[in-house]
Amino acid sequence: MPEGDTVWNTARVLERALTGDVLTGSDFRVPRLATTDLTGWTVAESASRGKHLLLRLTRDEQAMTLHSHLRMEGAWRAYAPGERWTGRPAHLIRVVLSTKRSVAVGYHLHELTLVPTADEDSLVGHLGPDLLGADWDPDEAVRRIAAKPEASIAEALLDQRNLAGVGNLYKAETLFLRGLWPWTPVGQVKDLSGTVKMAQKLVASNRGRWTQTTTGSLRKGQTSYVYGRRAQPCRRCGTAIQKAEQDERVTYWCPHCQPEP
Ligand SMILES: [Zn+2]
Repeated sequence: MPEGDTVWNTARVLERALTGDVLTGSDFRVPRLATTDLTGWTVAESASRGKHLLLRLTRDEQAMTLHSHLRMEGAWRAYAPGERWTGRPAHLIRVVLSTKRSVAVGYHLHELTLVPTADEDSLVGHLGPDLLGADWDPDEAVRRIAAKPEASIAEALLDQRNLAGVGNLYKAETLFLRGLWPWTPVGQVKDLSGTVKMAQKLVASNRGRWTQTTTGSLRKGQTSYVYGRRAQPCRRCGTAIQKAEQDERVTYWCPHCQPEP
């Protein structure tokens, strides 16, 4: 599932494949950008902000940013020239960027947009502190979360305007590790700072690999405490893990370790 760490890793893939090189071709397969041609632009930087990818391009004095969002199923893959594209079915391709040494293929991307780099804030300016950013600011994240004391803590962690980079997996796992019932109102959470820092620690610990674990184990079936484990015994107390809808997402929790206050 694309969460902050997956997006960060993807930015590194694009960095290794494209940064510093001139695009020798581009092929957009979304109607809005169908006539856009980025041939001749240099890929200056590949960055991530929360779950948003920002590919920064320059040509002469101009600077443009190609923005994409992976949501649930999006992905970028890099191939050598001539290598077979094995990532996903071809009909899911949204853009192909070529250089002399690489081909980057974007599958099932969302919000694919090209804006002047100076206008990036129109796309990501609303985001809270980025868990994996150089400017990560836990106090600011706490301040933003605390501003809505009636919101549930689960909802608050997923709200990218509070902090950017937590998805459903890290939400559920953070709440388990902090012993918080997912519907606890923010105003009743005793240690918001500890909760925010736990979320950051989990996301950051998975940077640089594609298997996400919160337990420390990389073995299949052992990588989470509660996420994806409905009806299975809690790793701490043996109680059956529960699953329910919450704000149009699913949430998992242990009713014993995360009691209703
Ligand atoms: Zn438990």
